[in-house]
Amino acid sequence: MTNNQKLIYLDNAATTPLRSEVLEAMMPFLTEEFGNPSAQFCPVAQFARAAIDNARVELASCLNAKPDEIFFTSGGTESDNWAIKGVAFANKFGATAQKNHIITTTIEHHAVSHTCEYLSKMGFDITYLQVDSEGLVNPDDLENAITDKTCLVTIIHANNEIGTVQDIKKLAEIAHKHDVIFHTDSVQSTGHLPIDVKDLGVDLLSMSGHKFRGPKGTGVLYVKKGTKLHNFAHGGAQENNKRAGTENVPGIVGISKALCLALEELPEESKRLTKLRDYLIETILKRIPGSHLNGHLTQRLPNNVNVRFDNIEGESILLLLSTRGICASSGSACASASLDPSHVLLAIGLPHEKAHGSLRLSLGDSTTKEDIDYTIDSLCEIVEKLRYMSPIK
Ligand SMILES: *Cc1c(COP(=O)(O)O)cnc(C)c1O
Repeated sequence: MTNNQKLIYLDNAATTPLRSEVLEAMMPFLTEEFGNPSAQFCPVAQFARAAIDNARVELASCLNAKPDEIFFTSGGTESDNWAIKGVAFANKFGATAQKNHIITTTIEHHAVSHTCEYLSKMGFDITYLQVDSEGLVNPDDLENAITDKTCLVTIIHANNEIGTVQDIKKLAEIAHKHDVIFHTDSVQSTGHLPIDVKDLGVDLLSMSGHKFRGPKGTGVLYVKKGTKLHNFAHGGAQENNKRAGTENVPGIVGISKALCLALEELPEESKRLTKLRDYLIETILKRIPGSHLNGHLTQRLPNNVNVRFDNIEGESILLLLSTRGICASSGSACASASLDPSHVLLAIGLPHEKAHGSLRLSLGDSTTKEDIDYTIDSLCEIVEKLRYMSPIK
């Protein structure tokens, strides 16, 4: 963007800026408090160890979990990989039954779907549950898919592209009725929706610090006590012998601080964002002919808007928005380097050409009504211009 243009950042689902309070909490551990938490009889080491212990207690209380159910990882991707491979391997190669069936959905993040594809090559059977046109899984489909070989159900809490929020509580209940372990990727929902692991009833839950204004490269895997899980990384005794490697002390301090702050503000902030979101959706649909909402109207993340426009490509809109200082996305950041349409939009039943016409606007705590009005005006002009130039009418 040009130097003096204000940046309107509407790509908070891709990542969020680090909060200054979080940086401040991390700073000592990036500088003078450099100790290795596993070292003995060394004051800097003890300080680092205490910081990790505190962070674990704080984080656990944010999620209504116990401290020994919290494992720090390098991000959402690692948490998803660990949860899924960890359960899969514990069941297939464990002393117990040979369970090799995993149930997931067609709208997962690649951290989940590519892990399942890998396991399928290793001899696991994967069932992909379809979703309806709003992105919701039908609980009856889950019930019908479970067999006596099923070891794991993994279903995304809030979708990163279309924002649809699943009824995880109900889905987890069904899995448990059949003694099947339940994992949810809650990377998009953590910090934006209240997360209570007991109330959700999940066995495993993944989150990522940089999606709620914490540092990149930080994550958490919640593992309910008693859940059988193979280690992901082997080596030292860190993380209760479950996840080897010297701890990322500043990152651990940062992710827990970021989550505490996000949750303090959540009740007010989610009301504010929901109002802005609904205003943005309503105004676009009203002012721009041939525009449609992707995802569920109400059962969606407070900060997610995903719309499509007949006969124009999301990429062209993005490019023109960027010249006006507006940063958005045409799908998920991870997939947008390829020209394939999003698997999530295809999964909700859109044909290829419509799946290409979509735009994701994800709001954040810096987003104002003014930003939204400017974005709407810009979108109206851009869509009109592109349609005027387009050969398809
Ligand atoms: C961002 C994201 C991930 C990956 O998290 P990283 O910390 O970037 O590895 C996984 N799942 C969902 C739903 C995401 O939005």
